[in-house]
Amino acid sequence: MIIGVPKEIKNNENRVGMTPAGVAELVKRGHTVYVQASAGTNSGFPDEEYTAVGAKMLPTIEATYAAAEMIVKVKEPIAPEYKLIKKGQVVFTYFHFAADKILTEAMIESGGICIAYETVEKEDHSLPLLTPMSEVAGRMATQEGARFLEKPQGGKGKLLGGVPGVRPARVLILGGGVVGTNAAQMAAGMGAEVLITDINLTRLRYLSEVLPKNVKTLYSSMHNIRMELPNIDLVIGSVLIPGDKAPHLITKDMLKLMKPGTVLVDVAIDQGGCFETSHPTTHSEPTYVVDGIVHYAVANIPGAVPFTSTMALTNSTLPYTVALADKGWQKACKGDPALALGLNVVEGKVTYKAVADVFGLEY
Ligand code: NAD
Repeated sequence: MIIGVPKEIKNNENRVGMTPAGVAELVKRGHTVYVQASAGTNSGFPDEEYTAVGAKMLPTIEATYAAAEMIVKVKEPIAPEYKLIKKGQVVFTYFHFAADKILTEAMIESGGICIAYETVEKEDHSLPLLTPMSEVAGRMATQEGARFLEKPQGGKGKLLGGVPGVRPARVLILGGGVVGTNAAQMAAGMGAEVLITDINLTRLRYLSEVLPKNVKTLYSSMHNIRMELPNIDLVIGSVLIPGDKAPHLITKDMLKLMKPGTVLVDVAIDQGGCFETSHPTTHSEPTYVVDGIVHYAVANIPGAVPFTSTMALTNSTLPYTVALADKGWQKACKGDPALALGLNVVEGKVTYKAVADVFGLEY
């Protein structure tokens, strides 16, 4: 198969869809891999490392899309890329369709085969291609939250871990999945008082067993969240209903329950956000303030640490990329129900129920 790896064009997105190690594996199996010039540079992979393992470099994004039967990338295509996707071309990347009607319509229009990393789902409901980025985003959420709690950054001016004789900051984490657990581990490690919520009691039981003593668990309900907000310094929103829009767990009227300079980090922004007042931000302008509350809602948090993120992502995507390249998308999906669940839009039709439902489209 002919595979194309374009350079990401989303704001401050420095990751790349394939490392030289991935290219080497595909080339060894007889595939052709075109990589756009400088696609890997910001992740620490110069062009020479790709050519050394047999990649063919192309100068432009247009040439890379035009040459390939399958595109492997990181972020969802944005407007300038829509017209580059060809009928029958496989696009293997994150899409987050439920949060973006224009993207969904553009991909229907393209006639491409859109396999979304975030909905590849194993029998045990784990999401193998979301997990590595969730690990990074969860750890970053605490790091960024701590930064924006600093006074010069607009926050309350509280040190997450406090110091001897001064109480540490209080962190509320909404959603105890991969993001939430990693955020909790970092916050706990920095010495904060952490409260982690979920609607899944089995998960809460597990978390209360494995997380350190300065992390307490709480069942997630609007009532419980309201009760906690007046004492919280940093809220990390990390809920997920797979393929669906995130529920609004903090509404605009609830902002007044918190003190000015409280920081909200909405990691679930890529699924529409779990705070009513969230809108996507970028690494160049990560925050904005509503009613005195600092909002951080960067949609591609792992993009800020591309060295770590590219390695973590491609460790997980490569076996699927190899299967798609070796067998073609139809056979690969037939042979692997987890991969088949990644099919969101196929040759003009939405094939993932939650996406069709959100937009009232035919499924
Ligand atoms: P996950 O499935 O591991 O965890 C989600 C958790 O939310 C589950 O435990 C679920 O029970 C819980 N949940 C569902 N509804 C809830 C509610 N009402 N209250 C409390 N908990 C609830 O998912 P994850 O991998 O942790 O990802 C979380 C979100 O972060 C997703 O939307 C994902 O796309 C997003 N994400 C964003 C970035 C970014 O850069 N912004 C990066 C990675 C992941």
